[in-house]
Amino acid sequence: MTAQIQQKKFYFEALKFYYLNIILHYQLDQVKNDIKNMKIKCEEFNKKKRRKNSEIIKPHACQHCQKTYATYAAKYKHIKIKHRE
Ligand SMILES: [Zn+2]
Repeated sequence: MTAQIQQKKFYFEALKFYYLNIILHYQLDQVKNDIKNMKIKCEEFNKKKRRKNSEIIKPHACQHCQKTYATYAAKYKHIKIKHRE
């Protein structure tokens, strides 16, 4: 009789762990999905929207040619490279 009860207990314990495992796997999949979605959102957030060339205001004009630049540094670099002499 006691052996039978022990067997039943063992069976129910095994069944409990079996279902717990299924639940944990399901939760793990959900967490994995959440992480995936978060990563995608993060990537989208981090992608800096590059402005179009025509949208940038360029007050720094090169005195040697018609090119204009948004910053003095950019113009300086251009002159150094293109008009070195
Ligand atoms: Zn120039």
